Amino acid sequence: MPPKSTSDLDPRPFAAWGLGLERPLVIAGPCSAESEVQVLATARGIAATGLAQVFRAGVWKPRTRPGSFEGVGDLALPWLARVKEETGLRTMVEVATAAHVESALKAGVDMLWIGARTTPNPFSVQQLADALRGVDVPVFVKNPINPDLQLWIGALERLQRSGLTRLAAIHRGFSWFERTPFRNSPMWEFPIRLKATFPDLELIGDPSHISGNRSLIGGVAQQALDLGFSGLMIEVHADPGQARSDADQQLKPEEFERIVRGLIFRQAEPTPGMRDRLDELRELIDQLDEEIAQKMGARMELASRIGEHKRAHHVAIIQPERWEWIMERQLRLAPHLGLSEAFIREFMDAVHRESIRKQTTGEDGQEILQPAGSQGSGREGLDPQ
Ligand code: PEP
Ligand code: MN
Repeated sequence: MPPKSTSDLDPRPFAAWGLGLERPLVIAGPCSAESEVQVLATARGIAATGLAQVFRAGVWKPRTRPGSFEGVGDLALPWLARVKEETGLRTMVEVATAAHVESALKAGVDMLWIGARTTPNPFSVQQLADALRGVDVPVFVKNPINPDLQLWIGALERLQRSGLTRLAAIHRGFSWFERTPFRNSPMWEFPIRLKATFPDLELIGDPSHISGNRSLIGGVAQQALDLGFSGLMIEVHADPGQARSDADQQLKPEEFERIVRGLIFRQAEPTPGMRDRLDELRELIDQLDEEIAQKMGARMELASRIGEHKRAHHVAIIQPERWEWIMERQLRLAPHLGLSEAFIREFMDAVHRESIRKQTTGEDGQEILQPAGSQGSGREGLDPQ
């Protein structure tokens, strides 16, 4: 540290973590600690790059299906102590039970993380929070495996209630049914909403688990940094081809070095010179947002009138082809405006839902009953416009 391209970094230490670590925090290490030789070779390779402050390794591995490598357990803890002694890197492991916490702390591990399969279980998180009560150690909470912001927030709150203050969130993407190029869909809106809820919470990106594949790691890491993340956790293995877990996404130390040196670490806060221009652009955005809200209000007003008109004329048939026509028209416009098809679909679907709500609730917020004798699908008046 720091990488070549970080000369304009915000030099403030992560005061909240009390570790004197600088921004960006780079955590690197193998998915799993497999043997003493593998752990030490990987740690030496990482230390030689000078780009990481923390060495991660999974000691107890929570696997989705039984039968995969589940980690060597407590046996690996002395290997991590050697890493720290030899390289000066801090050490970090995943904990999922109170017994893991006890063993890790006893072995002098510096930092802990809670994995994506543990965060969603309030019983497990509470057990960890209880085990950590009165202990001053940095704890990083990975997002739950499924896209549920409340579970992520809930886990952080449970730890906070146990008196832990050195907390951070790790974004490792979400399991999602749609095919994407990623192993775990990034759904960046979740960490962004988390940050909006807790502005002081530091976010760490885990491009390895989002990507699932070496070739995507650099791009995802850059995206996290561009969104203001405070650091990265990257899986590095001395010999990825032989890795017993997550082999496709682990980087050799030299690949890790090349990728991290190629990243652009932006400043956390704008410098005074930038501020005027930013303010100006933000003002324009605020104006546009207001215009969008006003236009939406006007559009929904028209949708309500159509609803009234249909009810008055006992028009009972919903017209899906009308909605298809609207959607197609918007989709044709999208590429000319630089908007993605996925965005237009999501946006127009939300507009559709709100139109339906407007057409089916009266001024008083009550559901509008259909006039007696109207017939049809039971969704009379739901023509979106
Ligand atoms: C890991 O970090 O190796 C791991 C198991 O991650 P996650 O909990 O994000 O799947
Ligand atoms: Mn892994």
